[in-house]
Amino acid sequence: LIRPLVAGNWKMNGLRAALTEVEALTAAHPAPACDVLLCPPATLIGAMVAAAAGGPVSVGGQDCHAAQSGAHTGDTSAEMIADAGGTAVIVGHSERRADHGEDDATVKAKAEAALRANLVAVVCVGETEAERDAGRTLDVVLGQLAGSMPQGATAANTVIAYEPVWAIGTGRVPEIADITEVHDALRKAVSDRLGDGASMRLLYGGSVKPSNAAEIFAVENVNGGLVGGASLKAADFGGIIAAA
Ligand code: 13P
Repeated sequence: LIRPLVAGNWKMNGLRAALTEVEALTAAHPAPACDVLLCPPATLIGAMVAAAAGGPVSVGGQDCHAAQSGAHTGDTSAEMIADAGGTAVIVGHSERRADHGEDDATVKAKAEAALRANLVAVVCVGETEAERDAGRTLDVVLGQLAGSMPQGATAANTVIAYEPVWAIGTGRVPEIADITEVHDALRKAVSDRLGDGASMRLLYGGSVKPSNAAEIFAVENVNGGLVGGASLKAADFGGIIAAA
């Protein structure tokens, strides 16, 4: 049995005052039935690690540079996230792919940097609405997976997050049958490629809320979620954790 992971992505939200949400979450869910990860902005990683100490919430980054250090103004390395107490990093989020022109090779290099720093790499894939409408969903998602998966990936150090771009922040969620189809295809792809792919965690992301989480998490090859807006408040995120 795969222990689910419920991960929150705060995106570019959160000042220090928001750390009270982490304290409230820890108090309300001291022993959840899933692993819990929160990925705040880089400015808050260290402070969130302190706020979460002793509880079930792990902390991660939202992106990392492929290099360990160097002349890359404004970037954060995987080693820096680890040094701040982070244990994971999201790579290849569609907002990074779109806003910063990251392609699969870039995402793969970042995921390999995560593994080099002993961080879990949360590798994101997902089709746009136009790609879905054109019937290209599986081609796109499996292509991104093949191109973005780090060398050395195992079920312990890599998580795949399927996030349809059109479902992010829109309140729109695919039909359960559509989530099932993509996650079945992802399972087959990781199993074909990796010895332990059958136990790699495959998360669904895109408009996950307390009200729809249980139905989504019940899908056979969905092993938790990657949550944006609903991860910002302890009450909402706690409701999602309770559904896992
Ligand atoms: P929402 O949950 O706000 O739709 O965001 C999903 C997401 O992009 C998480 O990485």
